[in-house]
Amino acid sequence: MAANIIDGKAFAATVREKVAGHVARLKADNDITPGLAVVLVGEDPASQVYVRSKGKQTVEVGMNSFEHKLDSGTSEADLLALIDTLNNDPAVHGILVQLPLPKHLNEDLVINSIAPSKDVDGFHISNVGLLGTGQKSMVPCTPLGCLMMLRDYHGSLSGMNAVVIGRSNIVGKPMAQLLLGDSCTVTIAHSRTKDLPEVVGRADIVIAAVGRPEMVPGEWIKEGATVIDVGINRIDAPEKGEGKTRLVGDVDFASAAGRAGAITPVPGGVGPMTIACLLANTVTAACRANGLEEPEGLTA
Ligand code: NAD
Repeated sequence: MAANIIDGKAFAATVREKVAGHVARLKADNDITPGLAVVLVGEDPASQVYVRSKGKQTVEVGMNSFEHKLDSGTSEADLLALIDTLNNDPAVHGILVQLPLPKHLNEDLVINSIAPSKDVDGFHISNVGLLGTGQKSMVPCTPLGCLMMLRDYHGSLSGMNAVVIGRSNIVGKPMAQLLLGDSCTVTIAHSRTKDLPEVVGRADIVIAAVGRPEMVPGEWIKEGATVIDVGINRIDAPEKGEGKTRLVGDVDFASAAGRAGAITPVPGGVGPMTIACLLANTVTAACRANGLEEPEGLTA
């Protein structure tokens, strides 16, 4: 049986449409334009691409985009001063500091200096604690995107066995918290997990967030399971010509698609949902900041 393909690109477009609708209403009814500030320190090429894409999509849904590009030698004090200014700027509803930061800057300190209510990445320790205790928080964008796709496909996730492979703070751990919040029975697997094939084979839902190209073969997947592939790995693609590369996930798509009930592709699965959820979080933050009702279906 061939798996259903969960089209993250198409789903992200519907999320952006919803966001744009809410932005239009906030402007018309409340004279509020949600604003997202993105701070980039240094010239990391991948980060520059992400920041450009975030800025473009922010403007496309009708929000204000404030980009702050600082040189790689920026001091911690100067970066903290900028964040303090953004924390106190009423036109800024969301603040995102693009990671990774240059080595001389303390990432934890910087992230925890963002006002939790404006922390649209959901990485501030307060938001991590709120999510972990089932309270209203800002939810990290990638796991939020995965959750939205799972809810859309399954309706209720209650009682399902979910295995999250990877225990990072930005994907694996918050993903597990969200699935627990939706009443899944959750297992977090990681680099020290014993007999990973057996653990994965029990899962109704597999979330792969490791960063190792195609490490999960189809034979590990339970027949009919739903597979969400978070991994983005660039590998050589000599079949496309000398020096060419292509993107693959953490799951071997070809063999997994033969066993899974549904699967996200790479590219075109989780990736596009991440920025869509960043926009969703910014609208949510703007509503909360102004004591307005939150848009439905755009948060956990
Ligand atoms: P990370 O390096 O912080 O964490 C990887 C995790 O994988 C670790 O917890 C580790 O224990 C686990 N791991 C390593 N080897 C393992 C093995 N052999 N078996 C089982 N577990 C193992 O990575 P991350 O930031 O969580 O990202 C994971 C992947 O997701 C990367 O490919 C990254 O590019 C991708 N990613 C995609 C998006 C998106 O928007 N789609 C967003 C964030 C991350």
